[in-house]
Amino acid sequence: MRNIDGQTAVYGIIGNPIGHTLSPVIHNTISEEMGINAVYVPFRANDDITAMAKGLFSLGVKGINVTVPYKTDIIGELCGLDPLAKEIGAVNTLKYTKGGYYGYNTDILGLDRELEDEDIDLKGKDTVILGAGGAARAVAFLCASKSPASITIVNRTKSKAQAIEADIKAYSGKLAKGTSPVVNVLTTDDTGSYDREDIIVFQCTNVGLSPNENECVIADRGFYDRVSAGIDLIYRPAETLFMKYVKETGGRAYNGLKMLVYQAVCAYEIWNDIKLPEEVIRKVREMLEQSV
Ligand code: NAP
Repeated sequence: MRNIDGQTAVYGIIGNPIGHTLSPVIHNTISEEMGINAVYVPFRANDDITAMAKGLFSLGVKGINVTVPYKTDIIGELCGLDPLAKEIGAVNTLKYTKGGYYGYNTDILGLDRELEDEDIDLKGKDTVILGAGGAARAVAFLCASKSPASITIVNRTKSKAQAIEADIKAYSGKLAKGTSPVVNVLTTDDTGSYDREDIIVFQCTNVGLSPNENECVIADRGFYDRVSAGIDLIYRPAETLFMKYVKETGGRAYNGLKMLVYQAVCAYEIWNDIKLPEEVIRKVREMLEQSV
């Protein structure tokens, strides 16, 4: 345990529930490795987000991560917003500035960094997003910003996928001419009609999350013949059934751990105006791989 003194900068995460968050261990490990005098703590929030944001600001809390269920509602308390976070309508990282907290979505910056790391280029590719919750929505915006050929949102509840489809189409309309993807919607039972090849799939549902490790949102095994890369946002278990199916047909498969680490790394870098060394990032990842 590092010494806490009068100079220690305070950071934290707000959410409810908050008991299972890995963010404190990630951020405190980074500070320890970097020799930065900072501490990161969990705050179990209540629903009065105005009072919460004011309280954190008046106490000078330098940076805050935001998790479920406040990622959208907190936006009304901010002094400004990163443009992509504004489009998505959700933030997970707040930086203290003189005028108030400024919001970012480092879930998406983190996933972007992972794609770069794994050499996955979405430009001109056919992409599929499984799910239509908060994570799927953010992934859909990231995809749209990368000029893929198509984005297909597959969800159990079609209306939720259609809502994201409409927002993505509106967003794509603002991008440079000729870069708009085709955007479609399917239900999870409809994937037999999907006929594109060499696709990149983002698994953004809760299906397969521990302890339900024997479940996968797309049961149709023929679907996986088309997948060249599959990214599951789940990191418990380390290998989901979705990932197993992708690998069985020769595709590359990744779990959500790197995205989790990179969203924290991006937040840390934004808060401290620094670039973290690869060695520190690797240490954090290895520490988490052993613990999840
Ligand atoms: P969410 O908003 O609650 O959305 C859940 C999604 O899963 C919805 O599309 C829902 O479909 C679908 N779903 C749930 N149970 C299902 C079932 N039995 N059959 C078919 N579909 C089902 O959750 P979220 O915040 O988007 O998070 C989704 C996952 O991403 C979670 O596992 C979360 O841990 C993970 N995640 C990981 C990271 C990371 O850093 N690695 C970051 C964010 C999220 P309906 O719309 O039909 O209900």
